[in-house]
Amino acid sequence: MSGKPSDAELRARLTPEQYHVTQEQGTERAFTGQHYRNEQSGKYLCVVCGEQLFSSAAKYDSGSGWPSFWEPVAAQKVEARADRAHGMIRTEVRCANCGAHLGHVFDDGPKPTGQRFCINSASLDFKPEPTK
Ligand SMILES: [Zn+2]
Repeated sequence: MSGKPSDAELRARLTPEQYHVTQEQGTERAFTGQHYRNEQSGKYLCVVCGEQLFSSAAKYDSGSGWPSFWEPVAAQKVEARADRAHGMIRTEVRCANCGAHLGHVFDDGPKPTGQRFCINSASLDFKPEPTK
């Protein structure tokens, strides 16, 4: 948890929704997130600490209403842990650097990984970059 800013700083810097999602394990409403329909090339960074977590190269439209990726930029960038909230057993995904809640990962994703990282837009910052 080295990269985690103080709670006061986060409350000042993040929008109420970003704070709720990343610090209180919230979930934004489906189809409302700013990155859901983003098809630009670029990097997706943790909104809390700025680590790059995902890339547009692994983003796809799962139809779920949340940005979906079949893999993070590196496995060690995210931390998965069991989440038993709401009467379901799901796998929660957090930023490995600062512990921010990102979303959940499911086993119904596309090839090559078969995984679906279902991530809240509110947990991510997008940095466009030219395609090479
Ligand atoms: Zn982070």
